[in-house]
Amino acid sequence: MEERRRVNACPRLWNSAFLDRDGKVYACCHYLPQAMGDIHDASLEQIRDGAAASELRRAALSFGTACFDSCSILTDDERDAAASLDGTDARPLERLHVLFGEGCRLACVMCNQDHHSAEMLDSELVLRNATPDADTAIEIQGGEPLQLRESRKYLAAIMKKGWAPTIITNGLQLDGPLGDEVVRGCARVKISLNAATRATHEAVNRGSSWDRVIGNIRNAVKLKRTLPRAARLVGRMTLVPQNLHETGAFMRLCLDLGMDAVEYGYDARTVPSALGRDPEMLRKLKDEVRAAHADCGSHISIQIHRLAAIGLWSAE
Ligand code: SF4
Repeated sequence: MEERRRVNACPRLWNSAFLDRDGKVYACCHYLPQAMGDIHDASLEQIRDGAAASELRRAALSFGTACFDSCSILTDDERDAAASLDGTDARPLERLHVLFGEGCRLACVMCNQDHHSAEMLDSELVLRNATPDADTAIEIQGGEPLQLRESRKYLAAIMKKGWAPTIITNGLQLDGPLGDEVVRGCARVKISLNAATRATHEAVNRGSSWDRVIGNIRNAVKLKRTLPRAARLVGRMTLVPQNLHETGAFMRLCLDLGMDAVEYGYDARTVPSALGRDPEMLRKLKDEVRAAHADCGSHISIQIHRLAAIGLWSAE
């Protein structure tokens, strides 16, 4: 029991919160392990200090968090942090992730959200009942945050306060005055390109326009270079069977575009099994990733832990 307790409790139960569009609070954006409360009924602080959250932490310390071993979110540092968890009190809020709604013009192949949904979390409610700590990293996701009325209102309000959030966007509306404001006021803009070529991008991000998104990224890079302080521009690629062949090339694209960082994710329903069925493809992709990393790794920050989790990267 002691050994399990040391390795399997998710630290996000102690230091993170994810707000869904219905106001419910979870440890993370996978809606796990279960809701701790609802910001319509209580403040986030009360919820994190409340009985339901304490009970989830107590259970995690005693039995582990069931989703821990297969988790595609936690970094290696967070996994290591599980060993130092003790007591059921909430720790300072390191991350507040907010999903205002699922509305989006695209229908990406790996996305199971309701793109036509008009349901949205009220930005005023979030400002009132989910106040972050001074050092909390706020991340706004969707749906498409630059499309949804409430996330745009929230973004404007918190940037006015001087808080610099991270947004995850499909990049289509990262243009005009809104795009400039976001580049000026956010800490990070993560753009879900999900491919290194037009054909794959438009096949995965169904409904997107490669030219428009790449044009917006080029403009954002140009603006950023004129500013003393601006958002870090991060290229995001969620791996699916349709884009796996561009995993290494994606690093080169982000470097060529002048972005600051590369992040990978993967579709847990399809990618591990696709790689497991085809050891030859796995070996080829791993070689390509290693070569791309050798060429790009000293020029651009590359978050590699999720590639390691699916066998596409190893330290040697
Ligand atoms: S282990 Fe992963 S999926 Fe489970 S609650 Fe923690 S971050 Fe979420």
